[in-house]
Amino acid sequence: MEYISTRGRSAPRNFADVLLSGTAADGGLFVPDHWPLVNLPGSGFARYQDVALDVLSAFAGTSFSRTEVREDIQAAYATFDAPEIAPLVQIGDNLYLLELFHGPSLAFKDVALQLLGRLFNRELKRRNRTATVIVATSGDTGSAAIAALGGLERVTVFVMHPKGRVSDVQRRQMTTVSFKNVHNIALEGSFDDAQAIVKNLFSDRAFSEMQHLAAVNSINFIRIAAQCVYYFTAAARLAVAPAFIVPTGNFGDAFAGEVAMRIGLQAARLVIATNANDILYRALHEGVYAAGPARHTLSPSMDIQAASNFERALFEASGRDAGWITARMNELSEVKQIRLPLDVLAALRQRYEAFRCSDELTLKSIADVYTASGRLIDPHTAVGVSAAYRLNRLSNFPLVVLATAHPAKFPNAVHKATGVTPPLPPRLAHLYEGEERMTVLANDVTSVRQFIERYSGHA
Ligand SMILES: *Cc1c(COP(=O)(O)O)cnc(C)c1O
Repeated sequence: MEYISTRGRSAPRNFADVLLSGTAADGGLFVPDHWPLVNLPGSGFARYQDVALDVLSAFAGTSFSRTEVREDIQAAYATFDAPEIAPLVQIGDNLYLLELFHGPSLAFKDVALQLLGRLFNRELKRRNRTATVIVATSGDTGSAAIAALGGLERVTVFVMHPKGRVSDVQRRQMTTVSFKNVHNIALEGSFDDAQAIVKNLFSDRAFSEMQHLAAVNSINFIRIAAQCVYYFTAAARLAVAPAFIVPTGNFGDAFAGEVAMRIGLQAARLVIATNANDILYRALHEGVYAAGPARHTLSPSMDIQAASNFERALFEASGRDAGWITARMNELSEVKQIRLPLDVLAALRQRYEAFRCSDELTLKSIADVYTASGRLIDPHTAVGVSAAYRLNRLSNFPLVVLATAHPAKFPNAVHKATGVTPPLPPRLAHLYEGEERMTVLANDVTSVRQFIERYSGHA
């Protein structure tokens, strides 16, 4: 199995190369050159680690042996505090939560990153080299990346969050750690600014090669591969093919659902649930993909207006037309929008549906779930539940909402909606004790580049 760029002008690479890189040299995103056939679970209970082994081995090609993949999967998911890894919980008629927050940082990003960190370490040892990982985070990727890569000898990690726009819990989770290889940057800008700086640094080939830059954002395809596993374990538990409702920001998790379908998942639909940062909602409804200003909402990990992974979905929806993608992406950077032709739009609409949720509805969904089931949900999950409530009236198949974060990560929103403060789980017991360490940097690529050169040991 080889990986090609959505823009068609980079040489194919293998799984391990893609693992240790970021965007392709032509600015595109890596995707597998074909969709593999995977040995899928039958219905009933499927052990998470077994499904993960089959899925990851199919994508890994010859980069890692099945035994190596198995070892890293065992170790990665041993850090989770739920034996099922991703438990499926019923909260209403035909309504389920797929709990993805049982890892070390209490958000779904651990599911992929705990595995990625171990594969990284294995491959860097094999190549006897180091890597500089640069992460733009809207709040949760940062702490998940630190939990996965903190303390690794061969990796230096730079985590950049938009200053003042992540929750206190999220910020303290990142800034109170004492790993020597982790550097926190508070950027004076939005998440989209941080992501643009990361893309800019990757496109500077001299810098990127000198630093051995690697990405663990969802531009890294290995994350997407690891995330399609829970779609299979959830579907196996239900007698009827469900619709999956995915709280969406960068479109990584939703695209993982598409990947799962392309390798055999039976799903009724994929439902994109956005907050007021509704670029994907507008793209599907109006046929124009155009970023608006980033809005600050109660679900900050989804305050994103440039959904990187949409490029992968467009690549598929266009029949893998790399020339067309290149032209559209150039257009996007020049005129800030893409008009989707009818055939591409039809292909997207056949698979995806989109709902948008205000902060008011987010709070109402948290309150409604609490009243109906006694469960506290976090505001990102609530954006998904709000879409599910609207869909439920129209559908007779099971609806599975991806529960992307633990409610204790967002205590203010949960308290506002229910009057209850979710207790800090044991993993976060010491959160308010540690001293915070971070560096505030101006919103420009030069200051970030200089900071990295200074602390990465490669200059
Ligand atoms: C990152 C994140 C999302 C959005 O996921 P994408 O893959 O970026 O679409 C949703 N909810 C939470 C809690 C997150 O941390």
